[in-house]
Amino acid sequence: MTIRSRIAPTPSGLLHLGNAVNFILTWLMVRKAGGTLRLRIDDADCLRAKPEYLEDIFRQLDWLKITWDEGPTGPDDFRSRFSQQLRQERYRSFLAELGRLGHLYPCNCSRSTIRQLAPDGVYPGFCRDRAGAFTAGEAQRVRVPEGSVFRVEGQEVALCNTMGDFVLWRKEDLPAYQLVSLVDDLDDRINLIVRGQDLLPSTAAQLFLAGLHGNNFFAETTFLHHPLVLGEDGRKLSKSDNALSLAALREKKLSPVPVYQEVARQVGIEPDGIVTLEDLLLRFREIS
Ligand SMILES: [Zn+2]
Repeated sequence: MTIRSRIAPTPSGLLHLGNAVNFILTWLMVRKAGGTLRLRIDDADCLRAKPEYLEDIFRQLDWLKITWDEGPTGPDDFRSRFSQQLRQERYRSFLAELGRLGHLYPCNCSRSTIRQLAPDGVYPGFCRDRAGAFTAGEAQRVRVPEGSVFRVEGQEVALCNTMGDFVLWRKEDLPAYQLVSLVDDLDDRINLIVRGQDLLPSTAAQLFLAGLHGNNFFAETTFLHHPLVLGEDGRKLSKSDNALSLAALREKKLSPVPVYQEVARQVGIEPDGIVTLEDLLLRFREIS
C-alpha cells in the first residue's frame, strides 16, 4: 500500500519550532516509504485565518526545504482551488448524514456557562436530551456514549472523559476542527497521520466519528503521536510565542539546521553532522 500523508498547518498564527518538527518528521516518514505528501492548509476557521499567516506558511516551508507532492503551490493557488472554505457543502453533508443517523443534538450553552459548570472543560451534556430542529446560532454536538474508549498507539483514550459530547458544527455556522480534519483525511485517502501527543484525544474523536459514519478506511490509518517541543519554561509552544516563531529565526538569518537537529534528537539520531534535510533523510533511512 502506498503511504499517503499530509502536513496540515493552520493560518491563524506564525508557525513555530514545534510545527516545523512535525512537518519534517512527516516528510521523513513519507520520503523513506516512497509515499505521497500532501500540503493541506486548515483554514476552515475563517474567523481566525489571516492572509499574512497563509504567506508565512509557504515562506517557512521553503526555508525548511520541505517539498510536497499534492496541494497548493502558493497562496493564490490555495485560495482559488484548495481553501476549506470552498468545501463547506461537503462538510455540511457529512454533518447531515450523522444527523440523519440520530447522533447530533443542538446546544446553545455559552462558553462561560460551560466553564462555570464544568471546570475540567469536558461538556457534561446539558442539552443532550434536546431534540428537534436546529436553529441558526446554535452549535451541534455529537453524543459520545459512556464507555467510548479508543486504543491509539497502545494508549487507551476514554473519549467521554476527555472530550465529552464535542462540537461538530459551531454556532458561527462553521464546521469544527474534528469534522473538517476527518473529512479531508478521508477524501484525500490519507493513511499515515503524524501529529503531536496533544492531539491524542482528537485522534480518538475522529476514529469515533468515522465509525459512526460507517467508514472503515480511517480505522486502517497509521498514527504517530510525537512528543511536543516545549518552551524554556516547560510549557507547550503556542502561536503567540513569537520569539520561537520560524519567521523570527529566519529573519535573524539563522539556518534551519537547529530545526533538523531537533528532529534528529527526537528520532534518536546523533544530531552532529546533520546539516541538510537530505543528511537527515539518509540517516533516517538507516535506522529502524
Ligand atoms: Zn448545551
